[in-house]
Amino acid sequence: MSGDPNLAGSAPSSRGRGTRPMSGPAVVPPYPSRVDLHTHSCRSDGVLEPRQLVDVAAAAGVRVLALADHDTLAGVRELRAPSAPSLPLELVAGVEINSIASGIDGLWEGELHILGLGVDPASEEFEAALEKQRAARLIRFGLLIARLRDMGLPVDEGAAALTTAPGSSLGRPQVARLLVQAGHAPSVDAAMKELLARGKPAYVPRRGLGPLDAIAAIRAAGGLPSLAHFGDAPRRRDLVAALVSGGLGGLEVHYRHFDAETVAGMAALARDLQLVPTGGSDYHGDGETYAEAHAALFVPDGDAVALFGALGLAAPAFPAVVASGS
Ligand SMILES: [Zn+2]
Ligand SMILES: [Zn+2]
Repeated sequence: MSGDPNLAGSAPSSRGRGTRPMSGPAVVPPYPSRVDLHTHSCRSDGVLEPRQLVDVAAAAGVRVLALADHDTLAGVRELRAPSAPSLPLELVAGVEINSIASGIDGLWEGELHILGLGVDPASEEFEAALEKQRAARLIRFGLLIARLRDMGLPVDEGAAALTTAPGSSLGRPQVARLLVQAGHAPSVDAAMKELLARGKPAYVPRRGLGPLDAIAAIRAAGGLPSLAHFGDAPRRRDLVAALVSGGLGGLEVHYRHFDAETVAGMAALARDLQLVPTGGSDYHGDGETYAEAHAALFVPDGDAVALFGALGLAAPAFPAVVASGS
């Protein structure tokens, strides 16, 4: 048992980063990323409206963007609605499923996060699976709010407003923001680490899909399942290989919070296991603009090309890279 590595204190945030703390040299982007395959809007636990997110990503130079909200395609559907204005970039329909990996030791929060990239938003079967996930989130959310009330940290008013948005997906970051707004916590990160994380006083266990079920559901919806921000993957090769046997097709190699050594280890593992390398910012929007997150991100164009190939789509076009200083 290695416990929860992210609670060791040196990781940038306790949210969703199922990785060991990063301490080595940072990745230096050789050119501004034109690809970001992992972002969140306020249809789940991000802060920006889907269209705002698209616009700030395009302004930062992103050409291929996956909106991968937790357990919902609501944002993707809005952006692709016939009445919606045309998009300034290529949008990949994505979701992130925080799967419950019972019985596997040493995972952050006992979870493995699976991105579904290129899923079919019209799949009724997939939508039914996501709806179940969202229903479980709603129950967990209610339990959390009640627990906080009992602890003398009420956020009921803000919580009631949040639960009314249709198709949206609730998570702990929204609760953390309510705690900050109510003056009960100094920051979202502090609320997550001190109150809401596993083992902390307000923690409520998650219910929902396991990793193999999540992978199967994503495959059935035509998407590529990619294992998100699992920096321990090179040391947990057997676990990753078991997921590959279950249909895993991608590995998030170019994650914004990975140091250079981790990226190299992840890239080697992806090659060995013939997984499509994917990468993204995991931008939520707490305490930073998209441009700031993007400056620390490097996802090679090749990740998008490989993803589109795996999905049977024509490769996205990228302009030639202009070397800086020339
Ligand atoms: Zn995640
Ligand atoms: Zn995420």
